[in-house]
Amino acid sequence: MNNENLLSIVREFGSPVYVYDAERIASQYNRLKEAFRDVEQLNINYAVKALSNISILKFLGSLGAGMDTVSIQEVLIAMEAGIPVNRIIYTPNGVSLDEIEKASGLGVQINIDNLSILEQFGTKHPEIPVCIRINPHVMAGGNTNISVGHIDSKFGISIHQLPHIERIVKNTGMHVNGIHMHTGSDILDIDVFLYASEILFETARHFDRLEFMDFGSGFKVPYKEGDIETNVDEMGKKLSSRFNEFCEEYGKQLTLAFEPGKFLVSEAGKFLVQVNVVKQTTSTVFAQVDSGFNHLIRPMLYGSQHEIENISNPSGRERFYSVVGYICETDTFANNRRIPEISEGDILSFSNAGAYCFSMSSNYNSRYRPAEVLWKDGKAHLIRKRETMEDLTRNQILIHP
Ligand SMILES: *Cc1c(COP(=O)(O)O)cnc(C)c1O
Repeated sequence: MNNENLLSIVREFGSPVYVYDAERIASQYNRLKEAFRDVEQLNINYAVKALSNISILKFLGSLGAGMDTVSIQEVLIAMEAGIPVNRIIYTPNGVSLDEIEKASGLGVQINIDNLSILEQFGTKHPEIPVCIRINPHVMAGGNTNISVGHIDSKFGISIHQLPHIERIVKNTGMHVNGIHMHTGSDILDIDVFLYASEILFETARHFDRLEFMDFGSGFKVPYKEGDIETNVDEMGKKLSSRFNEFCEEYGKQLTLAFEPGKFLVSEAGKFLVQVNVVKQTTSTVFAQVDSGFNHLIRPMLYGSQHEIENISNPSGRERFYSVVGYICETDTFANNRRIPEISEGDILSFSNAGAYCFSMSSNYNSRYRPAEVLWKDGKAHLIRKRETMEDLTRNQILIHP
């Protein structure tokens, strides 16, 4: 997917537009699979919330991926994409018993993350196998916004409450077939991750009907130069051998599951915008583009740094720019960034736009959400139309007082 390809996509489908490279998604998937080749049964369940377009789900399904879902709607979207229900796991946080029962009724594997629901569900449906989400209280990453395993996190059942879990399982006679952890979004240190895994193995010994262990995600991908990336090969080697050892001890070949989002799709995505205005102020040069945090909120929400290229003038002289959006709110994508000289009308390309970009978009300022394109086999496939005026008013009701 080169600059010429990207520019032709803008000519055909307009801007702003999200573009995803199928080959890149496949290579990431295969890289992960390869890293865990020593494990007999590996399930890679793609975290749907990262990028939930049905064509992306279908493509990942065709590679062999299952789906990790966090809402009943994501379950339904995955089913619409043709993913078999036995390849879907439902890992919500703080949803109602009613929704969990509905998901379970569809036939997907459910994963319960609090004692209250565990007790209620186990009492009503002791025969339905459930997975339990454990919080091992290990900080896998540096940023507390995206680390979900630490002591004050709202996610999972605390490892210290294991005796209470066991009491509920015993009293209800429920069937625990899986055990899960998801320590956070950034595995910076494999040893920290392996330490958390030991806690999960220790927990697993308390349940004798397990079929799988789910180690969540947290595979870090680089966003900017100098960022470290999770070394999946090293992690694969170390965890696989530890896992196989555990299975031997446990007396049963279990399935090892992961649920990566970012790792599979982040780097495959580009977000293409057009520069509306180049504005000089007393202190900087602004490049104002035809987008804002309505389409890409990560820089403002998490301080994420997405690389920005000027694909209309890639070899131009570099200058310093503040790249901002067009909505009426501070929407700074990048501050003081070195970019080849920008003229009005140029197309800028944001990198790492596959994960948590379109899926977090909104209609703020009553703007349309962008189109999405899948680049596959050297061709551009439109996988979501740009919204229209009709989409904005679809559910609104004009009253006549
Ligand atoms: C969001 C989420 C993931 C995916 O995390 P990434 O950092 O995108 O890989 C996996 N599991 C659960 C339970 C999640 O909520």
